[in-house]
Amino acid sequence: MWMKKLNYMYFKSEEFRNRYFRTLPTHEYSWIFDYQGQPMMGLHATMFATSINTFSNEEQRAEWMPKVQNYDILGTYAQTELGHGSNVAGLETTATFDKETDEFVLHTPTTTATKWWPGDLGRYANHAVVFAQLIIESDGHKNNYGVCPFIVQLRDLETHKHLSGIKSGDMGPKFGYLAKDNGWMQMTHVRIPRKQMLQRFITVDRSGDVSITGDIKILYSTMILIRTIIIANAKNALSQTLLVALRYSTVRRQFRNISG
Ligand SMILES: Cc1cc2nc3c(=O)[nH]c(=O)nc-3n(C[C@H](O)[C@H](O)[C@H](O)COP(=O)(O)OP(=O)(O)OC[C@H]3O[C@@H](n4cnc5c(N)ncnc54)[C@H](O)[C@@H]3O)c2cc1C
Repeated sequence: MWMKKLNYMYFKSEEFRNRYFRTLPTHEYSWIFDYQGQPMMGLHATMFATSINTFSNEEQRAEWMPKVQNYDILGTYAQTELGHGSNVAGLETTATFDKETDEFVLHTPTTTATKWWPGDLGRYANHAVVFAQLIIESDGHKNNYGVCPFIVQLRDLETHKHLSGIKSGDMGPKFGYLAKDNGWMQMTHVRIPRKQMLQRFITVDRSGDVSITGDIKILYSTMILIRTIIIANAKNALSQTLLVALRYSTVRRQFRNISG
């Protein structure tokens, strides 16, 4: 219930928006959430929205982007795992195509495959772009096509309870980053429709045939983009401290000048 109220208050209520966020475009609201100077709930408008917008084909973009932009769903970006950070190609989460039902089955096969760190995953998000190894069986062989993005619904939109097969939670307090709900998640044979694999650069058709456009390392680009922005933003924090130090040094006087 509190999630619903929060979502309504911040994202849906025209009155609240007009009063407090008159000058901001919708995608910047999420950065308003701030607790002791620490950001909360920024993943939706950044990594989630960017991934869906960039990795979707036209049809998927038309279906998902209005929901994302209107905050009808609240998303996160679930790439990193307990055992795999820099080594994205080594992620263990699997998305196995089930030809019979035209679905992908998302699964966490080991403890080290637990999704680990995604912002807003533990308490807030009800959807995620999940990165998983795309597995398609043919002639009795399991073929691995590498890490691909999938839209997975995590929680019921009415009750905010986990959907079947999903377990997630907050990783716990972090020094200096308390407000951010960085989470963990495990999936047990979670089924999603085939069309929820983001298919702009890699496509799986009804019979399980795969086609790839260009170099699918582009699928790592959201993480790279956001990390670049974080580094660029560090200059803002540094320039604030520099300003304080410079101003203070012009007025702060101590000791006597012994030479004079
Ligand atoms: C605050 C925070 C928020 C995050 N939010 C998200 C999120 O929203 N979604 C998400 O999916 N992930 C998220 N992450 C995870 C983040 O992207 C990973 O931490 C990052 O990819 C690095 O992975 P790692 O922590 O496992 O470090 P590691 O991969 O273990 O790296 C540790 C160190 O070893 C170095 N290293 C690693 N491999 C090698 C090698 N082969 N040779 C030489 N040096 C190497 C690295 O450069 C690094 O300095 C978040 C992390 C933090 C801290």
